[in-house]
Amino acid sequence: MSSYIGRFAPSPTGPLHAGSLVAALASWLDARAHGGQWLVRIEDVDGPRCPPGVDALILQQLEALSLRPDAPPVWQSHRGSHYEAALRRLIDAGQAYGCACTRGEIASAAGPRQRHGELVYPGTCRNGTNGRPVRAWRFRVDGRIDWQDRRLGPQTQDLSSEVGDFVLKRADGLWAYQLAVVVDDAEQGVTDIVRGEDLADNTPRQIALQRAMGLPLPRYLHTPLVLAADGQKLSKQNGAAALDLADPAARLREAAAALGLRVEAVLAADLLAQALAQWRAQFKLPSGPT
Ligand code: GLU
Repeated sequence: MSSYIGRFAPSPTGPLHAGSLVAALASWLDARAHGGQWLVRIEDVDGPRCPPGVDALILQQLEALSLRPDAPPVWQSHRGSHYEAALRRLIDAGQAYGCACTRGEIASAAGPRQRHGELVYPGTCRNGTNGRPVRAWRFRVDGRIDWQDRRLGPQTQDLSSEVGDFVLKRADGLWAYQLAVVVDDAEQGVTDIVRGEDLADNTPRQIALQRAMGLPLPRYLHTPLVLAADGQKLSKQNGAAALDLADPAARLREAAAALGLRVEAVLAADLLAQALAQWRAQFKLPSGPT
């Protein structure tokens, strides 16, 4: 039996769209191609951005697409005590610290900006807040992370100059994606992370956290993004349409095409079997159980 455990981890800020389906399908295919397990985790840490009922809708969409998880889904909103324990361990080890800075203070202190418009934290509170009340908790970064992506090849990011000490718990009390995802992937035994290329930029932060917490390092595969007609990344934020699931096989065919797979079957189950065979061939994986 394979030790592979993969997952699809949607944030329920909106229903699945053509872009998120590509990540769902790729993670499902890779898990099945390795004879492994495929889990679904609802990443609803940012509660205010997650309208009620969207989580259930995403699960229904996956079911309609015949993408069925091997275990009941997990909700991050139920897992705050795990994130709290992880933060506590990082603080005790001197790897996380309280930060008193407001956004305005960071903006006026920070010189360079990060690629996605995020500010590089200048490290103001690294040695204490000078008696100012703690607002957020940050991870103390240290230099460059080199990592390997199964599709993109060797990658590197200098966390110190490109990202800075990043937030683990926000000033509004919400857990940051970076901490929650690392804690959950480790506790669920995830060996392989397959997700959209837009998230590749986060991977060095997650690797830094995995190392700091002594966790096993998963393998990574970041899939091509589906672009909107105007060339922009398709996302819930720019209003990507929810999937029309009157014809689930058609949606799967489109998602498979975005992954470079040519599948023609009419029924979703046949189509997934065809896509799986091609995925195995593409990654030179032996044929095996589905
Ligand atoms: N929850 C994230 C999203 O939907 C994905 C997290 C991940 O796959 O690591 O964008």
